[in-house]
Amino acid sequence: MTIDVLVEVNVGSQNQIFTYAVNHQLRDKIKKGIRVTVPFGSRKLEGFVININDNNIDVDYELKEIINVVDENPVLNTELLELGQYMSELYLSPLIHCYQTMLPVALKAKKKTKINIKIEKYISLNKDKEEINEYISNNKSMLQNNILLQIIQLERVRKKDVDNQNVLRTLLNKGLLKEEEEEVYRLQSNDISNKDYHKLTDDQAKVVNSFFSGSKGVYLLHGVTGSGKTEVYMNIIDRVLHEGKNAIVLVPEIALTAQLVTRFQNHFGNEVAILHSRLSDGEKYDEWRKIEREEVSIVIGARSAVFAPLSNIGVIIIDEEHETTYKQENSPRYHALDIAIYRAKKHDAKVMLGSATPSLESYARAKKGYYGLLELKNRINGKDLPEVFVVDMQSSIQKGYRLLSLELINKIKERLERKEQVMILLNRRGYSNFLTCPNCGYTYKCPHCDITMTYHKTSDTLRCHYCGYADKRRIECPECHAKGLKDFGIGTERIEEEIKSLFTGVRIIRMDLDTTTKKGAHNKIIKDFENHKYDILLGTQMIAKGLDFDRVTLVGVINADMSLNIPDFRSSERTFQLLSQVAGRSGRKDTEGEVLLQTFDNDHYVIEKVKNHDYIGFYNKEMQVRRKLFYPPYCFIAMIRILSKDYEYGFDISKKIGAYLRKQLPNNIVLGPTMANVFKVNNIYRFVCLIKYRDKEEIYQSLNEINKHYDNNHKLKLEVDINPMRM
Ligand SMILES: [Zn+2]
Ligand SMILES: [Zn+2]
Repeated sequence: MTIDVLVEVNVGSQNQIFTYAVNHQLRDKIKKGIRVTVPFGSRKLEGFVININDNNIDVDYELKEIINVVDENPVLNTELLELGQYMSELYLSPLIHCYQTMLPVALKAKKKTKINIKIEKYISLNKDKEEINEYISNNKSMLQNNILLQIIQLERVRKKDVDNQNVLRTLLNKGLLKEEEEEVYRLQSNDISNKDYHKLTDDQAKVVNSFFSGSKGVYLLHGVTGSGKTEVYMNIIDRVLHEGKNAIVLVPEIALTAQLVTRFQNHFGNEVAILHSRLSDGEKYDEWRKIEREEVSIVIGARSAVFAPLSNIGVIIIDEEHETTYKQENSPRYHALDIAIYRAKKHDAKVMLGSATPSLESYARAKKGYYGLLELKNRINGKDLPEVFVVDMQSSIQKGYRLLSLELINKIKERLERKEQVMILLNRRGYSNFLTCPNCGYTYKCPHCDITMTYHKTSDTLRCHYCGYADKRRIECPECHAKGLKDFGIGTERIEEEIKSLFTGVRIIRMDLDTTTKKGAHNKIIKDFENHKYDILLGTQMIAKGLDFDRVTLVGVINADMSLNIPDFRSSERTFQLLSQVAGRSGRKDTEGEVLLQTFDNDHYVIEKVKNHDYIGFYNKEMQVRRKLFYPPYCFIAMIRILSKDYEYGFDISKKIGAYLRKQLPNNIVLGPTMANVFKVNNIYRFVCLIKYRDKEEIYQSLNEINKHYDNNHKLKLEVDINPMRM
């Protein structure tokens, strides 16, 4: 018997599969999808068994034998093994990356990732109750008797919950009690589920019925903010569970969607497993095992939860389907939506995509009839969507209001008086964007990246948001030594300071990357704001998604048009989505809400469509732009990134790649090389070539050729990104 083992060694884009012999003692233990330890040069590596050959293959060298078997049962089942192959071809990624990305750390093929199973010790009676009672009646030790009585009553207690461990030891030694070990999960779920919830509105019921009765594989639920998409999801899952099937629910980022997760846990109790990046390795391992052992029927999680080894899947739901977090930026550069559709087909399941602001691609597919289109046009509270006001900051600054306009200040004041809550969005953290010398124009840039440094007042440092480099703030210009460097641009820290100075005693909490590094910090901020410990929640895009606060009646956005200037063909779409999402946080319960956008570019169509809550209008306008410039959804994009520490060399190779692609692909549009938007990160220069294509068969061969050609080139790194989410 020989086996093919896939190992992770850094040899570029090719699949690293090696054949090994198996000695007699280990033969019975070999299964496809388990991990084995193999000799590799002078090293030992773990790898996945991906093929078993019963006959010895003929080679003119002696096959090495595997060293050991790591798993009793496969960590990759047949479905995941096949899925990896599919991903590897679709995204031109090494197969090993595909498998590693599917698995929690504890199950990846890596050395030294042993994660232990958590064991809990329990104490129970080791003799009949009568015998114990007799012992108690003849025993003078109150301490002993108390413990015995406690255990008679409860039958079983955790060892660590027993007050007096010394006395406990005596009782164990006497053989009156016994100790048992049991495997426990680190994350404890709710054992009580509360199946009754609000009755669906007619609109919601219609959506659920169409979803089940329709013939499409994928449905797009376009529902305005506050229209009750979560109830629809829960109802669909109830029905799927009732049919004996299972469900996967994907959310953009679990820390930011804590409220939705809580609702699912309250409703479905211990049927739910949770998978996301903020769990510890041990917690992830435990959740994975709950799923494998079929102890749960619903998996909720971020992107990678799409790989949950659930059997018999009935539905895969992707909430906020337009979010870019569903795309992985590292190899394999997969999109969870592709994987969901692939898995759903295998399971004969359906996919539901939900959003108030669907991606242009998804909405176009729905309009063309590839996806079914379902709509929720009204808010569940029966109220209108919040009224949106636009303030021109050009004239506000002339009136002397540079950061917060007089209009916004007055509206905040009203809310504070009425004991209502306010959310303020500014999608930039820190205090100010950059420091410049008014004398010579010198601007502080990160020495390792092509990016200006952001000033953080709390720590009095300049920081690079790309590589994390930090430097003390200077008073003097390093070029001309003039004093009085000026700061420009505003961040959340600055607005926090401004609000505190305008409204004395105001209770404001800031939520951005800087205030949420600790585990659980997000949840605490959200809970505290929910419980009205604060009047104002100020934050970056983190506060825009999925949150539901009853008392919020005003949402203010500072620099609402800022992201329109990002050089990316999706910048209008992203801005529309962000502004619509955050506007949707206002007036979700009994009181109608208002939204105020501070902009410099009030006439931009994105601002106008947000003001009118006009997704369809935005879609039509933006589709015209995309058609004219020939961008998705009118084509697909493949991006080739060339990374090198050597500028000249990187640029030279990029030009060669561009020329090669133009020659090979005369029917497609090849752009570049150009410099990436952020041209240098961590001292590595980045060049980009783009292919706009309609038929992937045509371009994949050329991309594979390039990949192969530069595999062993140590002076540069090549990244192929199919349908990149960032330009
Ligand atoms: Zn200067
Ligand atoms: Zn940097």
